[in-house]
Amino acid sequence: MKKITDLDITNKKVLIRCDFNVPIKDGKIIDDTRIISALETINYCLEKQAKVILFSHLGRIKEEADLAKNSLEIVAKRLSELLNKKVIFIPETRGEKLEATIKNMQNGDVILVQNTRYEDLNGKKESSNDEELGKYWASLGDIFINDAFGTIHRAHASNVGIATHMKGKCAFGFLIEKELNALSVLANPDHPFIVILGGAKVADKIGVIENLVKKADKILIGGGMAFTFLKAQGIEVGKSLIDDENISFCKKVLNDYPTKIILPIDTAVTTEFSNNEELKIKEINNLDTNEMGLDIGPKTVLLFESYLKNAKTVIWNGPLGVYEFDKYKQSTNNILQYLVDNNIKAILGGGDIVASATNAHLKDKIYHASTGGGATLEYLEGKILPGIEAIK
Ligand code: AMP
Repeated sequence: MKKITDLDITNKKVLIRCDFNVPIKDGKIIDDTRIISALETINYCLEKQAKVILFSHLGRIKEEADLAKNSLEIVAKRLSELLNKKVIFIPETRGEKLEATIKNMQNGDVILVQNTRYEDLNGKKESSNDEELGKYWASLGDIFINDAFGTIHRAHASNVGIATHMKGKCAFGFLIEKELNALSVLANPDHPFIVILGGAKVADKIGVIENLVKKADKILIGGGMAFTFLKAQGIEVGKSLIDDENISFCKKVLNDYPTKIILPIDTAVTTEFSNNEELKIKEINNLDTNEMGLDIGPKTVLLFESYLKNAKTVIWNGPLGVYEFDKYKQSTNNILQYLVDNNIKAILGGGDIVASATNAHLKDKIYHASTGGGATLEYLEGKILPGIEAIK
């Protein structure tokens, strides 16, 4: 892996692709975690007396009306507070002002360039990795650091494009380095290697199952997706979430790996998709036609824990119940707590399970919570990620 510490960046103009895609509500940043996560790489560059030029996307730009609400100016302000120094915001993604400001930079100066997706307004230049755009941005600096893990599965001009035009002068920042180090255990996991899968649909997890079923000792399946597997076994699942198109996929996996897939033996059911109706715990083969399972049950939690007890590596994608409802977040939280209490090397991959851990105040106690969302999922699917390849 090419690391930032492998490059001599002193006096250099260092282009850094960050992930400043922060949630904004009523003109305010409501969670600045992503800005804080970028500080280590930025501060390292400042300590090394580099000139720092930052790029990021924010939201999606489809029409003129999307521009103002997705300006990075608000991020420049917050970043300036966090760094305790001036951040020069350039409201354009190219042009004379940007070029002149870069030309006049002193060591230790920080510039934030406007949202890279402003370039999507006319012809999706950022998102389609427009050749000329990547070349132009690359021409603005001496070194390129990619530290935006969340977009590593996309070939955009601001990651792959710049890297392609700066061969030999690119590396990963500390954030990506940390992610890749943690996820690299997958290449050669210590056994028992247990995978926990939850979330809504089987369709979204087919790639992950296909990739990990060969390597894992057991796959523990909860969440909405468990019901498609149960239905594939001929179990009556009432009104529970079913992914009809993938029943045959589930049948095949159960058939090919009869001892690897562990399904719920009980479930928390109700009659409406809501937090307000009565909750009952039912054996898995005892659901009425008007009932739906919204969480795994307590016996299943114990069953899953019996497999996790001796685990040396755990990967977990997707919550085991509807964690957005207080009543149905219990099993997910119990198993998160079990992993923490037993010091089990667990990697959480994907937005919803990381959000569950954050809500339960357990995120920082888990071995690694991957921030990537789609990027982490594609990594778990074993896909080649363009943002990684371009730096390699
Ligand atoms: P995913 O993005 O595929 O990881 O799915 C996360 C979503 O799965 C969350 O919004 C959960 O509410 C949902 N989910 C988890 N368990 C169930 C369930 N038993 N029935 C319906 N949805 C569920």
